[in-house]
Amino acid sequence: MSKLFRLLPSVDMVLQRATGQERFAHLPRPLLKDLINLFLDHLREDIRSGRISKPEDLQWSALESCLNAFLQRTSRPHFRRVLNATGVVVHTNLGRSLLARQAVEAVKDACAHYSNLEFSLATGLRGTRYSHVEELLCRLTGAEASLVVNNNAAAVLLMLDTLAKGREVVVSRGQLVEIGGSFRIPEVMAKSGAVLREVGATNRVHIHDYERAIGPDTAGLLKVHTSNFRIIGFHKEVSLPEMVAIAEKHRLPVLEDLGSGNLFDFTPYGLEHEPTVQEAIAAGAAVVTFSGDKVLGGPQAGIIVGRKSFIDPIKQNPMNRALRIDKMTLAALEATLRLYLDPELARREIPTLRMITASSEELRRKAGRLARLLRRKLGSGIDVAQFPGASRVGGGAYPERDLPTTLVGVRPRRDDLTVDELKVRLLQIDPPLIGRIEQDYFCLDPRTLDDAEHGAAARVLGQAL
Ligand SMILES: *Cc1c(COP(=O)(O)O)cnc(C)c1O
Repeated sequence: MSKLFRLLPSVDMVLQRATGQERFAHLPRPLLKDLINLFLDHLREDIRSGRISKPEDLQWSALESCLNAFLQRTSRPHFRRVLNATGVVVHTNLGRSLLARQAVEAVKDACAHYSNLEFSLATGLRGTRYSHVEELLCRLTGAEASLVVNNNAAAVLLMLDTLAKGREVVVSRGQLVEIGGSFRIPEVMAKSGAVLREVGATNRVHIHDYERAIGPDTAGLLKVHTSNFRIIGFHKEVSLPEMVAIAEKHRLPVLEDLGSGNLFDFTPYGLEHEPTVQEAIAAGAAVVTFSGDKVLGGPQAGIIVGRKSFIDPIKQNPMNRALRIDKMTLAALEATLRLYLDPELARREIPTLRMITASSEELRRKAGRLARLLRRKLGSGIDVAQFPGASRVGGGAYPERDLPTTLVGVRPRRDDLTVDELKVRLLQIDPPLIGRIEQDYFCLDPRTLDDAEHGAAARVLGQAL
């Protein structure tokens, strides 16, 4: 055994061999050195356990391909691309929305070059970063003014901090929601310094509940989209126009956290009506906040639109500076919003909209193409099946609503690999392939897997098998 230990190559020798290869030459040397030390530790462990017992096993010709595979696997950045075959379009854990091609180009330009981020090309003087999207947002939503911050959680916090600090905000008990990632309305409200005035019961709230709660300390009425849950059965809500009517009598604003914030009407595509931002503004909401990267299909951002008299003080709030968006977000948001000027263009070009509105027929054809490719590439080692299934919008939009799709199911035809094991293995390959198990098949939903990714999915499955 000690003879074998002496045959191990030195770190420096391995390092030299690795950096001599183009694919590893660009890696930071300290990182490469750590990985090589780890590789040599594994070899020592193999010698100790008897897995390596012959001197030939330690010859460079035997080690080289092993080392290369090890480095290939371990030197990848931690944060990386995955293949989303889950059928959940706005998948919170997988990066929510994908940007439109135009938005990706705008981001590249914004981060690789100088820009007029806060510079007016008309005057040659200082400009404001929000000017790039304010007009567009007003045009698309019908609002008088707008502002964009880091995300919708920040938007709600900033809105309440500015307009209701130290005063009461009336909210229905049925709307005191918790969104994933610990955003809870009562807690955000406490942080902002506003005082929560709950009204109604969990399932029912009436106009007179709001009326009775209004007093000298009231700063406004807040409506919260119940994004990720539904109350069904015996329930009643007060509509936005009804809330506006009550608020106007008392000269108070109605504030609305619209959550996902549609700018697009999905009813022609078979989905239920969801209030759009335009409708909330038209119905008289004074301030509306919503996310940029949920159903809107843009970058992570919190968009605040509404009446100028309320938006101006929000802009002046010093907290705004701490929550501001960066130039890449701004570039992506402007490019995305421009597409909405033509809703059909937005539907075609914005991946989130395209995936949500994909027709059953289109998905069946995509599934057919994917299944044929898998059969051809993976051969007789697996069963490939197609069957009806359900995708989800995700991101808290349209909870409980199944979007009909055609799933492509894959099952290994062998005893030493179960479908569950296959699912785990697929996470270890690059790019990892993420799907779900249904009817004892590993299922790929073509709704969220782009045609251009079919080849990669087949390769990853082949490697896992
Ligand atoms: C998603 C959501 C939020 C949080 O938005 P982020 O953009 O994730 O910060 C707040 N309120 C509602 C109702 C939501 O659905």
